[in-house]
Amino acid sequence: MVKLLDPVASFVNREHGVFIGGEFVDSRGADRIPVTDPYSGQVLTTVPSGVSADIDAAVAAATQALPAWRKMPTATRAELLWRLGARIEELADEFAQLDALDNGKPVSEALAVDVPLSAGLYKYYAGWASKLEGRTITPQGGASMHVYTRRESVGVVGAIIPWNFPLLMCGYKLGPALATGNTVVLKPAEQTPLSALRLAEVINEVGFPPGVVNIVTGYGPTAGAPLAAHPGVDKITFTGETSTGQKIMQAAQGNMKKVTLELGGKSPSVVFADADLDAALEGTFGAVFFNQGQCCIAGARVYVEDSIADEFTARLVDRVGQVRLGSGLDPETTMGPLVSEEQQERVNSMIRSGIDEGATIASDPDTPLPGQGSFVRPTVFTDVKPDMRIMREEIFGPVAMVARFKTEEEAVILANDTSYGLCSGVWTKDIARAHRMAAGIHAGTVYVNTYGYFDPAVSFGGFKMSGFGKELGEEALDSYLQTKTVWVNLD
Ligand code: ADP
Repeated sequence: MVKLLDPVASFVNREHGVFIGGEFVDSRGADRIPVTDPYSGQVLTTVPSGVSADIDAAVAAATQALPAWRKMPTATRAELLWRLGARIEELADEFAQLDALDNGKPVSEALAVDVPLSAGLYKYYAGWASKLEGRTITPQGGASMHVYTRRESVGVVGAIIPWNFPLLMCGYKLGPALATGNTVVLKPAEQTPLSALRLAEVINEVGFPPGVVNIVTGYGPTAGAPLAAHPGVDKITFTGETSTGQKIMQAAQGNMKKVTLELGGKSPSVVFADADLDAALEGTFGAVFFNQGQCCIAGARVYVEDSIADEFTARLVDRVGQVRLGSGLDPETTMGPLVSEEQQERVNSMIRSGIDEGATIASDPDTPLPGQGSFVRPTVFTDVKPDMRIMREEIFGPVAMVARFKTEEEAVILANDTSYGLCSGVWTKDIARAHRMAAGIHAGTVYVNTYGYFDPAVSFGGFKMSGFGKELGEEALDSYLQTKTVWVNLD
């Protein structure tokens, strides 16, 4: 067993409270949430099961901190965000272990993706804090008016995040929200609260004023729902399941909160016979199996051109056979356990439904699993039909469905045969075809000859049932700002 870093071990064992007004305080409720290591199955520690009175207190702290935070020189806001990013870089090993411990993900992936992208996000948005500009407008009616716009922060932001990228999802929300002068109440997922609580300590350490960021751990119905419904919250930003997003929209209507939703997906990965097949294979494999398949962008519907389908499927199955299942903390591990036994059961039940509906498992169904932990065998299905549940519903686990197509027109129709529209991949060397496919696919992101790249500067968000509003990049700023128009009579 890999040893935990001392600071990680001591952090885990700390008495955890909710983070309100710059302090860790006891929850107003008595219940605690056990934090379970999905590899060992052991309870690592507990965190408060936040209640609506905690949300009230956190919103009050965020409201109190708002005027001074809005007025703070933007250079200072930028400096704080930059320092936060820099400190995360220094603490990379610690954060990677925390997420590996809590979520099960391989520490190597956390070090390659979650941690550097988190740090990069804060640094990227540090740059934007001083670059939020309005416009001057000349009214076409010729009245002697001076008209200009101000871009103002929305106010108190409620952020509700999932468990698949615990540290990183904090950055998706906090980076643009703070750069634009909002204060935040963040609720991490109940399965993975540890890195958010450690981040709260770092937020204090680098000097953010109390109340600018508040973090309340808790379950969705008891802590998330009151946040989504709170009349003192001006905007809600959510990443998670589509069905939860629908509840959040309803809860938000009471005071007309601005809403940004990044929801589920059922993304296609389309491989043409003219593609660089080595690259397509590795890219398609990563698209499905990265993060144990627990990615909203997972390119799990793999459509392969008929003439190469047999060969490609055999190679994909072979590649899946090379996966090293194990503890996320072990540097040799390439696939960890799923986040929880509940998720393991959800994914296994989807696999059973695929078998029941007549799909064939092409991968080795007897691959040995570690003797402990909520593992799911990485699985490749063939003989899939468009109306099967495994082709329509998000699985959120290491399961690929391989189907065939004959023409480009058919590939577009199949790719779009979903209620979701988050992401997609196209593999071809034909540049005109690549652009035709990019235009034809209804999804917020199309990757051509790559998959799953993320960058703080590049916006991301869904079409259709995958949600609305963009995250990352310049576009994310819009949803944390509102534009005020000022008319000045010059006569
Ligand atoms: P999953 O089922 O994969 O955990 P969810 O969409 O349920 O995905 O969870 C994402 C986040 O939404 C978590 O932080 C969870 O606690 C929160 N959540 C769940 N239900 C609600 C709800 N009714 N209102 C607000 N937040 C919720």
